[in-house]
Amino acid sequence: MRIIIVGGVAAGMSAATRLRRLSEKDEIIVFEKGPFVSFANCGLPYHISKTIKHRSQLIVQTADDLRSRFNIDVRVNSEVTHIDRDNKMISVNHDDQQEKLYYDKLILSLGSSPVIPKIEGLHTQSNIFQLRNIPDLDNIMSHLDESIKTVAVLGAGFIGIEVTENLIKRGFSVNLIERSNQILPNLDIEMAQSITNELIKNDVRINTGTTINKVSRDILYLDNGMSIQADAVIIAAGIRPNSDIAIAAGLKVGPNKGIVVDHDFKTSDSNIYAIGDVISVIHQITEQETLIPLAGPANRHGRQVADAIHGLSIKNKPEIGTSIVKVFSKSAASTGINEKQAKQLGLNYHVTHTFSYHHASYYPGATQVMMKLIFTNTGDIIGAQAVGNEGVDKRIDLLATAIKFRLKVDDLPELELTYAPPFGAAKDPVHISGYVAE
Ligand code: FAD
Repeated sequence: MRIIIVGGVAAGMSAATRLRRLSEKDEIIVFEKGPFVSFANCGLPYHISKTIKHRSQLIVQTADDLRSRFNIDVRVNSEVTHIDRDNKMISVNHDDQQEKLYYDKLILSLGSSPVIPKIEGLHTQSNIFQLRNIPDLDNIMSHLDESIKTVAVLGAGFIGIEVTENLIKRGFSVNLIERSNQILPNLDIEMAQSITNELIKNDVRINTGTTINKVSRDILYLDNGMSIQADAVIIAAGIRPNSDIAIAAGLKVGPNKGIVVDHDFKTSDSNIYAIGDVISVIHQITEQETLIPLAGPANRHGRQVADAIHGLSIKNKPEIGTSIVKVFSKSAASTGINEKQAKQLGLNYHVTHTFSYHHASYYPGATQVMMKLIFTNTGDIIGAQAVGNEGVDKRIDLLATAIKFRLKVDDLPELELTYAPPFGAAKDPVHISGYVAE
């Protein structure tokens, strides 16, 4: 069987290696538009400050490694431009040469791209950047020389915030611009406040509730009437799925342009599968179609689609969207839905806020975790957020597990967790949020 994978990073490469483990016989070909496969998108912001010292550390496996270790035919700089579903053929552009290839099964792991807002003057400027892949990073790194003093970051989601932190660490003066009235819109505003304070403490200038109207040379004109000087602008204002070739081939997409797939990751064509950022997923809490562009789900999809192609029993389950961001000495994490979404959905919900130490208060170094729990009248946990210096990841990972496996708030005090004074508390912050909610 010939299986062609389009897109060779998180989801695509995870599918390719799992397919090889499941069968030595299949012919597996991966086409990647860019020059690199299997690179660490999530690490890109940290090379700006050289926290990740060498660019080479971001390249997890090369095309040659994959060929020799797994007998996977990896072809970089090869863009798939067309899918001919009737004849099960794809067209590929490589070095301006067109090639057509037959597939038995096709996996689309096309990822997503940054949304570049329509802003007057933006496209005529050479100092505007995005960060999605290694060439984008190279572009930023080669531009950020001694002549650059000020940088603006458009978008205060987790990528914008990570970029901001690393620019500050590198010594730039940074203006962060966010259209909504708070940074990190996945959090509720009172939870985001402590991260806002942390950014301000580290000299980030924050401009919320506004966006860029016009760019002229190094001046950004904001829609609140202010203007900002910036030698460079990095855009991190959300993403859109790279579903254009799927749409052109008539595959079904959702309202968010994510490719619609079934429980086996099959698209509306039974020989074509789709995984990763490019698919529309069902949210476990809202039961609505949404996009959850995160690395964990993308890697899982990759493994599961290979299993599905080999007839193993899997289920593309609804997702909850769990994420975390480090912001200087603090972290912020969330899972499930936030209170703004609960309100919009008209749910009958309750909220608790708790402040408790990440490990025994008497053991040196204890810091407070601020937690928010959102749950329904029936005790179903529908969302959680945490902010603090330490232990935020552990609490949200626990609550994400609780939500995923449908525990109720009164199950939380029952969790039997590791405890010794350097690690936690006999009454962990998660227990306390459960007690308060009961
Ligand atoms: P991608 O990894 O984007 O791979 C898709 C590939 O398909 C691309 O390389 C693209 O060139 C290729 N492609 C597209 N169209 C074609 C075509 N027609 N022909 C051939 N090739 C094509 N997630 C987290 O969970 N935690 C994090 O900390 C985190 N940090 C991030 C930081 C940054 C800067 C970025 C950009 C993303 C981050 N993410 C993070 C998100 C995470 O990287 C993505 O969710 C994940 O990479 C999605 O995997 P994917 O395989 O679907 O898409």
